[in-house]
Amino acid sequence: MHMKTVLVVEDEREIARMVQTYLMREGYRVEVAFTGEEGWTLFKDLQPDLVVLDLMLPGMHGLEVARRIRQGATTPIIMLTARTEEADRVAGLEMGADDYVTKPFSLRELAARVRAVLRRTEGTTVPEVIRVGKLTVDLAAREARLGGGLLDLTPTEFDLLAFFARHPGRVFTRRELLEALQERTYATLPRTVDSHVKNLRHKIEPDPEDPTYILTVHGVGYKFRPPEGG
Ligand code: CA
Repeated sequence: MHMKTVLVVEDEREIARMVQTYLMREGYRVEVAFTGEEGWTLFKDLQPDLVVLDLMLPGMHGLEVARRIRQGATTPIIMLTARTEEADRVAGLEMGADDYVTKPFSLRELAARVRAVLRRTEGTTVPEVIRVGKLTVDLAAREARLGGGLLDLTPTEFDLLAFFARHPGRVFTRRELLEALQERTYATLPRTVDSHVKNLRHKIEPDPEDPTYILTVHGVGYKFRPPEGG
């Protein structure tokens, strides 16, 4: 098996070196860039198997690096973000980043995500149709079906459902979900998300009072149920 190459783009040198050392010990070839520009150049030269990308970079922002990568490649991207960068995190996921890790993070957690993302993306592309339980979400056709029957969803409800379905098992705060929908709703109140979720549940849940697809995470927000019912 050929050694996987990981490109780490992170301006905090100490963090970059620690990540490099740890991932090398895990058996990866690791190259480091300290700026967005350098990261983009190295990406083109190396054609790495995965990119660990800090968002807050001097000069070219991490989101811009992600955008350039996504224009021509499906290389998995794991973002490094601060807890306060919710909007960027969501923008990054929307732009096609595969996962994120919030600073401060443990090296073991990052390595686990690198492994998981590489496993998940190995020889696959982003599916256009996502199936969870009896639910089918066709991202290209912007259609959702429940047990074969076409669901009558508003554009916002479809966007919310599609966002959930693309990130199963991840917990999102109301504010993050709002950011994900912002272009469509112009709403600013996190509680707006609750009413969208409520309406969606009435359309997709067998029992809206006891939801099995969109789960409430008390005190935090919501998450979509993982594919294998786990
Ligand atoms: Ca930084």
